[in-house]
Amino acid sequence: MHKDDCIFCKIAKGVISSHKIYEDDDVLAFLDISQTTKGHALVIPKEHYDNFLSTPQEVMHKVMDVAQHIGQAQMYCLGAKGVNILTNVNKEAGQSVFHFHVHVIPRYISKEGFRIEMKGNPNLDELSLPALAEEIKKGL
Ligand code: AMP
Ligand code: ZN
Repeated sequence: MHKDDCIFCKIAKGVISSHKIYEDDDVLAFLDISQTTKGHALVIPKEHYDNFLSTPQEVMHKVMDVAQHIGQAQMYCLGAKGVNILTNVNKEAGQSVFHFHVHVIPRYISKEGFRIEMKGNPNLDELSLPALAEEIKKGL
């Protein structure tokens, strides 16, 4: 299924052009227009799903397979020293295009353009880790 107002559906259909890296029946990879670092790529399913969590497992696996290959190619062909692979789910997590996509961001030096900082929770002593683990386990 495609959504008429979705920019990545338009890219998947070829209505909007992109710099393609890889394509098969189900998956497309292309360069991110922002080029956060040199070679920053996006991997998407051709079908529209809003985000990682709402994508059927089989499709998600195909997208992640391609993301792994692209990360490997960025290391071998662009000389990247590392790669960040991430996907944002919902605006609270920074998602701005609501068609599932995986960012594959090659890294050359540690301080360029992009940083994920996982700060320690200042209220850590108010959290019960055993209780939190149990809460999450209820949903599995
Ligand atoms: P996110 O914020 O995780 O939803 O990421 C959306 C990404 O899509 C951003 O990194 C944008 O630079 C990228 N983007 C938006 N429009 C285009 C486009 N037409 N071609 C390539 N990348 C795009
Ligand atoms: Zn879409």
